[in-house]
Amino acid sequence: MVNRQLFLKIAKGLGAFALARRFTRRSLRILCYHGLSLDDEEQFQPKLFMRIDTFRSRMRYLAENGYAVLPLREALDRLNDGTLPDRAVVITFDDGWRGIGTLAVPVLEQHRFPATIYVTTRDVVDEAPVFNVAIRYLLWKSRVRMLDLGSSGLGGDEYDLSSPAGRNRALEYLGELADATDAEGRTRILSTVAGLLGLDWSHLERLGMFRLMTTKELTGIARRGVDLQLHTHDHLFGSMDRAFVERTVIRNREVLTPVTGRPVEHFCFPSGEYSPEQLPWLASLGVVSATSCAAGFVTAATPRLELGRFLDGENIDDLDFEAELSGFLEVMRRLRARVKHG
Ligand SMILES: [Zn+2]
Repeated sequence: MVNRQLFLKIAKGLGAFALARRFTRRSLRILCYHGLSLDDEEQFQPKLFMRIDTFRSRMRYLAENGYAVLPLREALDRLNDGTLPDRAVVITFDDGWRGIGTLAVPVLEQHRFPATIYVTTRDVVDEAPVFNVAIRYLLWKSRVRMLDLGSSGLGGDEYDLSSPAGRNRALEYLGELADATDAEGRTRILSTVAGLLGLDWSHLERLGMFRLMTTKELTGIARRGVDLQLHTHDHLFGSMDRAFVERTVIRNREVLTPVTGRPVEHFCFPSGEYSPEQLPWLASLGVVSATSCAAGFVTAATPRLELGRFLDGENIDDLDFEAELSGFLEVMRRLRARVKHG
């Protein structure tokens, strides 16, 4: 990583960032965020969570360096009719984590930056924690080595958490348990496991960690102008068949439409996963754009159901962010693709 940082520093010093900024000025940059830390989540998963101070400095950077932050819909319309301003940026958030409403939205408002949140709705409707992230956090956070599930009434074995294999077996068993129960059951599993691991579940709950926004909170930020769009009801897409896809997208839209009172027709692939034959299914559901997790700027030629984004997180430092935003890394990607395809 040191070499990469040195390379970027030299490139910037030689004016390559400024050159790339000119060269890519007509392309649209779509930024992707997930959650903001309410406690120490960024140390657990720095790609998924960011400290509010880091987010604040990112937004300040956009404001001070001449980037034009546009609403998603307007950016795509202007891409279509060739009126996109130079260095256009769209800000997106995936999932609808609690901290986005309480921490990120006020920062966006200070800068008058529009944003889209792709909301997955099952845990919103259930008002339950996001199980698969919360359970991993508990195992990460705890110093307890042996997890004895048998003694807790959850069934299962004793798992050695000091080995990756033991942790994976515990996660696999708990995941199966969670899949077989409802929201209340899943929350009970989390609080029981937290207790076994010597952690205070009520502390996490008080902070709202691993919770998505409630419909009331979503309604509140939608009224303040935040755009809410599709991310499936179940946070599942990639390997699913057409009937499932239709069900989960329609249910997602049913929950979001009364919350926003506006058209819900933009989509984001959960975990960035999809296969080409699924794209026409989305089109027939009235989806007009879809974003992935693949890096890449968007141009007039980019298929609208395969829009690339830059995944920002606590793992990205300021120089990397600047390198990406300037277009320097995009130019490098285009050069590499050209070399690869001869
Ligand atoms: Zn997601």
